[in-house]
Amino acid sequence: MKTIGLLGGMSWESTAVYYRSLNEKVKARLGGLHSARVLLHSVDFAPIAELQAAGKWDEAGAVLAGAAKGLEAAGADIMLIGTNTMHLVAPQVADAVTIPLLHIADATAEAIKPMGIQKVGLLGTRFTMEKDFYKGHLRDHHGIETLVPDADDRDVIHRIIYEELCLGVVKEQSRDTYLTIIGKLKDAGAECIILGCTEICLLIEQQHISLPLFDTTSLHAEAAVNFAINP
Ligand code: GLU
Repeated sequence: MKTIGLLGGMSWESTAVYYRSLNEKVKARLGGLHSARVLLHSVDFAPIAELQAAGKWDEAGAVLAGAAKGLEAAGADIMLIGTNTMHLVAPQVADAVTIPLLHIADATAEAIKPMGIQKVGLLGTRFTMEKDFYKGHLRDHHGIETLVPDADDRDVIHRIIYEELCLGVVKEQSRDTYLTIIGKLKDAGAECIILGCTEICLLIEQQHISLPLFDTTSLHAEAAVNFAINP
């Protein structure tokens, strides 16, 4: 089995989900006492979030690129950035290492495409919903069109991610808010919903909505385990 390098801590609430998910998926595939070979570099998220808010993406990317080099030197065979948002600096991280970087949007698109879905509704941080690094990746590499909520709804989604979910706070009222926004995306023509932020799975699950749901945390972990077991 290959070793998975995980850049985590963004936030650690979702990194804990990744860690469990990687191990559960290896156990499901190999059985018995098998578990995932994982090297984790978990950052302090506060300074990273400050750099995001200040638009200092190159500096944030440099932190992750340095951490990625360390994971490669320690023996990682593949690299995961355990957050959708920080895929904004995926090229910087990929350039810092010689091992493959498994892009979270690729892992997600590979699950969507067999369903023949053309138009996805995307929930994530404001950075992920508004900048082109994610929507553009889905469009240019996979031919998938993305719908995002309107500006007010994007603000609400973003706030709940940083002020609640990244702190491990899960509120019924916030779930209702998300479900209302998902309903609007459905009315606008979304054929499925991407949880394009690795903490949203703490709040929304498939059981809550009628549209197909694609949870990037789980799909990213699944793709990593596929690589680790069958490189
Ligand atoms: N984990 C989140 C994501 O998937 C948000 C936190 C971050 O900005 O990295 O986008």
